[in-house]
Amino acid sequence: MSNIQQTLSIIKPDAVERNLQDQIKKDFKNNGFEIIKEKKIHISKEEAERFYKVHETKPFYNDLCAYLSSGPIVVMTLERDNAVMENRKLMGATNPTEAEDGTLRKKYGISIDKNSVHGSDSLENAKIELDFFFNN
Ligand code: ATP
Ligand code: MG
Repeated sequence: MSNIQQTLSIIKPDAVERNLQDQIKKDFKNNGFEIIKEKKIHISKEEAERFYKVHETKPFYNDLCAYLSSGPIVVMTLERDNAVMENRKLMGATNPTEAEDGTLRKKYGISIDKNSVHGSDSLENAKIELDFFFNN
């Protein structure tokens, strides 16, 4: 049975800076994702803080928000069967040194902060995150 979902993907500043967005978009398409919406934006630190609010209490919260707002990013609505989980699989582990071969973070990630892509971690969060970037 098919289970079409939408999820939010962000190409983070380190990847945009290295001009990897076309390559990464090709990776999504080659893995069965359709890019339904996309925009290149540069968010403020305050917006990054709202986006990553779930991590508010973490020691890396400030650096994380400073980083996501440090340069342009590309935000996308991705659609496919089981999009949330399939995107997490394609992205690989948070830390690129632990990511499996063939995953986006293994291929493009530089460090745990500069790990090139973000993906929603549940269907519920995907709805919240898509709303955050595309419905306001
Ligand atoms: P993302 O939310 O960006 O898709 P993720 O879901 O794999 O990544 P989270 O636990 O949600 O990982 O962490 C959000 C981001 O915070 C990570 O992408 C990473 O850049 C940063 N981060 C996570 N853990 C650490 C850590 N221990 N030290 C520094 N930065 C971290
Ligand atoms: Mg996360």
